[in-house]
Amino acid sequence: MRQILKAPRMQIGKRQIATAVRKSGHLQTIAEVIGEEAVPVVQYLKGKKNISEFKIAESIKTEVNSVRKMLYAMQTNNLVSYYRKKDRQKGWYISYWTLKPESFDYLSIATRKQKLQQLSERLHKEEAYEGLFYICPSLCVRLEFDKAAEISFKCPECGSTLQHQDNSKTIEQLRTKISELEVKK
Ligand SMILES: [Zn+2]
Repeated sequence: MRQILKAPRMQIGKRQIATAVRKSGHLQTIAEVIGEEAVPVVQYLKGKKNISEFKIAESIKTEVNSVRKMLYAMQTNNLVSYYRKKDRQKGWYISYWTLKPESFDYLSIATRKQKLQQLSERLHKEEAYEGLFYICPSLCVRLEFDKAAEISFKCPECGSTLQHQDNSKTIEQLRTKISELEVKK
């Protein structure tokens, strides 16, 4: 009886963890695509509708101009919608903003795909030249064997002799990163 009661409770816990992970993934994507400073804007707008940029700025204690900049950057990525309305008293236009939560999933997926693609391209190159990389001891250049041979293993920047570099660790790290990204949803 006790075990039967325990099982569903654990499932709820897991689901909550999954949601939390996805949420933090969204904020991480925002930080990467728009900038770290846009995270408070997203956190503040969450669950709200049609909030003026002045109210957002006041609430997160940031200047209205930089808040506007972030909002427009988010709008370019289709993450927010807004409408403008003339303020009768002040005589100028004010924009009212709402998050488009469904777009966050798309952006996260697109960013992850892009990252995966870059990492795979890098991995293919590293694998194709496994054990065939040469590097300047002062880190000016890193070249594949044929290119290094063409310049007689002399650094074109500083003239030092290029040294063989074992890239097996790099390959291993790239593989780990790729499989971590593939597991994420
Ligand atoms: Zn060099």
